[in-house]
Amino acid sequence: MRIKELLALEGKGQHITVEGWVRTKRDSRDVSFVALNDGSCIDNMQVVLPKSFPLFDDIEPRLSNGASVTVRGRLVKSQGTGQSVEVLPDEITVQGEANPAEYPLQKKRHSFEFLREIAHLRPRTNTFGAVARIRSAMSYAIHSYFNERGFVYVHTPVITGSDCEGAGEMFRVTTFPLDKIPVTKDGVDFSRDFFGKEASLTVSGQLEAEIYALALKNVYTFGPTFRAENSNTSRHLAEFWMVEPEMAFCDISLNMDTAEEFIKYILKYVLTNCRLDMEFFSTMIEKGVVENLEHITESSFERITYTEAVNELKKSGKNFDYPVEWGMDLQSEHEKFITQEIFRKPVIVTDYPRDIKAFYMKQNDDGRTVRAMDVLVPRLGEIIGGSERENDHGRLLSRIREMGLDEKNYWWYLELRKYGSVPHSGFGLGFERLIQFVTGMQNIRDVIPFPRCVGTLDF
Ligand code: ATP
Ligand code: MN
Repeated sequence: MRIKELLALEGKGQHITVEGWVRTKRDSRDVSFVALNDGSCIDNMQVVLPKSFPLFDDIEPRLSNGASVTVRGRLVKSQGTGQSVEVLPDEITVQGEANPAEYPLQKKRHSFEFLREIAHLRPRTNTFGAVARIRSAMSYAIHSYFNERGFVYVHTPVITGSDCEGAGEMFRVTTFPLDKIPVTKDGVDFSRDFFGKEASLTVSGQLEAEIYALALKNVYTFGPTFRAENSNTSRHLAEFWMVEPEMAFCDISLNMDTAEEFIKYILKYVLTNCRLDMEFFSTMIEKGVVENLEHITESSFERITYTEAVNELKKSGKNFDYPVEWGMDLQSEHEKFITQEIFRKPVIVTDYPRDIKAFYMKQNDDGRTVRAMDVLVPRLGEIIGGSERENDHGRLLSRIREMGLDEKNYWWYLELRKYGSVPHSGFGLGFERLIQFVTGMQNIRDVIPFPRCVGTLDF
């Protein structure tokens, strides 16, 4: 049994085995209290080791922080406060010692910056154990949400040959020897590379998901995406996980309903199923985060257009680093202001200027905006970017040409608009941003086990 299950039992002196790593050890006059954790929950199992225990002087020093231990003994009602049961050991096996002079996790609280440098040990802390469990629970909830609604999970490729997505931000994939790249007078000769053409890591599975949505109606992807973001922010990673539903026979308004319902589903799931960890975040990481999330699940998201948002921002009289004017992309300072100062709840902003959005977004009849929708949340700003897709062949083609893109690269994407085209929509949710939102963790590097960002690749 894991510690989580043992702690739920009544201590009746039953024989049990408990295995885990020592978190703390506390000595009193007659006994040592050893707290074991096995990662099953945030709470520890207390082992009460009396000085009269056989070979106490040999075993006790080896039960230092970080040591792995198997204890056989009896589960009894705890004498102390702070736990309902504890273990009286009959037999203790130290599986692996952890030299106290060297073991890095000694202090009760280390800085997150320091813990990033020891990513091999940080899951043994309360915070990173809880983040790992929440992340896993949220992944499960994501699959449940879509599975309950008949969405098909589609695996879109990690290596992509379409340079259509986000040009500047892509990582290259090549087997060229870097000191001997074949060039012709026209530049690099990609015909001699592994795939015979340029290849990159995907920045989004959307375009491929659209293919499947136009056959299976409702699909989603959930996998790693890559962006060579050359920015050191607390919200950007070079490798992150994205959830991307894509729905046929679906317009922007149903798309928004889905995004809102989806987020609330995930929040409710963790509030119900990860109670202990959420209480930890709510007291130790972000005061009141549980109440905030509960409130969000009970109220509706605000919905405004980009034009209204710009007017609100101007009206606020606030001095932004980037002054607000119609036509500009909203910066994170604006996004945060809209959601945490103006509305104090999640906000869905729609109908952005077409010139700042991707070529595939459906154009509105006003000729200057597109049916985009971004979901903004307090503390973080954008966590979802989505849109209704342009489903008219002629308008898509002219937009591709207008933006100076090479239509040859989009032949299949255009064909989807020639054969059985239908209004369809979707969005991309940054998984790590949602975890930040749920846990209150400030830095995105602390909600993914092994963060990759510009200038850092330690593990
Ligand atoms: P931002 O303006 O915040 O960089 P974006 O407009 O580039 O976001 P999209 O291309 O719409 O974002 O991607 C969809 C979602 O993926 C975003 O709403 C965000 O949650 C997430 N996301 C985008 N870039 C990153 C990144 N570098 N690291 C982590 N999550 C990201
Ligand atoms: Mn970006």
